[in-house]
Amino acid sequence: MSARIFLRTLNHISSRQFKVSRASFQPLRNYTHYPIDDDIFGLTEEQKQLRRTVFEFAQAELAPHADKIDKENKWDDLRNFWLKLGNLGLLGITAPAKYGGSEGGYLDHLICMEEISRAAGGIALSYGAHSNLCVNQIVRNGSEEQKEKYLPKLITGEHFGALAMSETTAGSDVVSMKCKAEKKGDYYILNGSKFWITNFCDADTLVVYAKTDMNSAKPQHGVTAFLIEKGMEGFSTGVPLDKLGIRGSNTGELIFEDCKVPVKNVLGKEGRGIYVLFSGLDIERVLASAEKNILGKTNRGIYVLFSGLDIERLVLSGGPLGLMQAACDIAFKYAHDREQFGVKIGTFQMLQAKMAEMYVKLNTTRSYVYTIARSLDKGLILPKDCAASILYAAEEATKCALDAIQILGGNGYINDYATGRILRDCKLYEIGAGTTEVRKLVIGRALNSEYTK
Ligand SMILES: Cc1cc2nc3c(=O)[nH]c(=O)nc-3n(C[C@H](O)[C@H](O)[C@H](O)COP(=O)(O)OP(=O)(O)OC[C@H]3O[C@@H](n4cnc5c(N)ncnc54)[C@H](O)[C@@H]3O)c2cc1C
Repeated sequence: MSARIFLRTLNHISSRQFKVSRASFQPLRNYTHYPIDDDIFGLTEEQKQLRRTVFEFAQAELAPHADKIDKENKWDDLRNFWLKLGNLGLLGITAPAKYGGSEGGYLDHLICMEEISRAAGGIALSYGAHSNLCVNQIVRNGSEEQKEKYLPKLITGEHFGALAMSETTAGSDVVSMKCKAEKKGDYYILNGSKFWITNFCDADTLVVYAKTDMNSAKPQHGVTAFLIEKGMEGFSTGVPLDKLGIRGSNTGELIFEDCKVPVKNVLGKEGRGIYVLFSGLDIERVLASAEKNILGKTNRGIYVLFSGLDIERLVLSGGPLGLMQAACDIAFKYAHDREQFGVKIGTFQMLQAKMAEMYVKLNTTRSYVYTIARSLDKGLILPKDCAASILYAAEEATKCALDAIQILGGNGYINDYATGRILRDCKLYEIGAGTTEVRKLVIGRALNSEYTK
């Protein structure tokens, strides 16, 4: 993590005291949140400080609104909150300082995603879509001109970001997308639509994938990424979708009707937008390139765009991880407040077993995703393990949320407690960024390929 973000985080340290880190083995009964022992997970002093800062910020500025956001599926203060995220240096964690970024790594980014998700899952997904799917893709693939134009406002929070691949008929099989872009002189003309797009109506800058060659030999060829701006002629948005969870994060449709996009808004190179995505097509070629998966090589092309998805999967693993932590925060405390048969329910062996299982799920997930984040920070992108990180985190988070509901009994089933919201939020991570089944397919094919090289 750079000096820049460290300074910004230090500046934010306030007199607010959440009981989250304990210096010694004092009783936890007064703790509002179950402490994370970052020494176990090998965080640096800067990363521990980063967690404390983001935790305090998110618990003070976001958590108190989480239930209302969930009920209303919107947050009137969203833009203002975005500026605060920007002010804290969290929107451009992995961006260079010259564009206003914090020059942190993917583990730093994961910690931020984790702590924001711990406060409110929906707003955290919006944060992930903005700071990773949009900002980081521009950082990795944008031209100097594009970076100078788009990154500063995305990083201060004046602008919102999004990324759009999926369509109503092209989800897991994303390369079958129908949205097309035809070149006419200095412009491309985009026609088609995108569906389930996070931040769709908030976004000022959107990374949008479209087909520039409908007749390519393979469907994955001929896909190009574009930078679309809110207000471009021929670009409009639908209405927010009414979702099961992750509410307050606006999800919806993008519509392109003869939308004129300047050629200079191509992100990366034409025809090299997506090679292999969720479907795991041509996975062998990806694996072949995985051996030289070092970030920052000049010949970035197809591989770099694909690797954006790997990084997305890893950073978004912080979502279920933070939600899992939130489930433990609530359930462990409840088990030590609530009494039945004259004793704390946490003393019953069956509830001890449940808490023990939650604790192990939480910490095994954290260990694995932090390990893969560290390898990303060293420049190694491991597609199989990025898929495995989010696969494992998402499934364990859903189980953890169900355990938390069970520990709360009747109170777990009413919406006065956050456990129901946490469960609904967790479930998204088994679907978004490639479903559980597609992740297993990616991992399984990668394993098979290792035996057939
Ligand atoms: C809240 C939310 C936010 C989202 N945000 C974005 C965003 O910002 N940008 C974006 O581009 N997209 C976004 N998405 C879309 C998301 O990526 C897709 O929903 C996801 O990829 C799954 O596609 P699908 O919904 O079409 O499901 P389908 O592909 O129709 O899958 C349906 C079922 O079939 C299974 N299946 C499909 N193919 C296979 C196979 N080969 N083998 C085994 N099983 C298979 C799936 O696992 C799943 O269980 C978002 C979705 C949601 C719900």
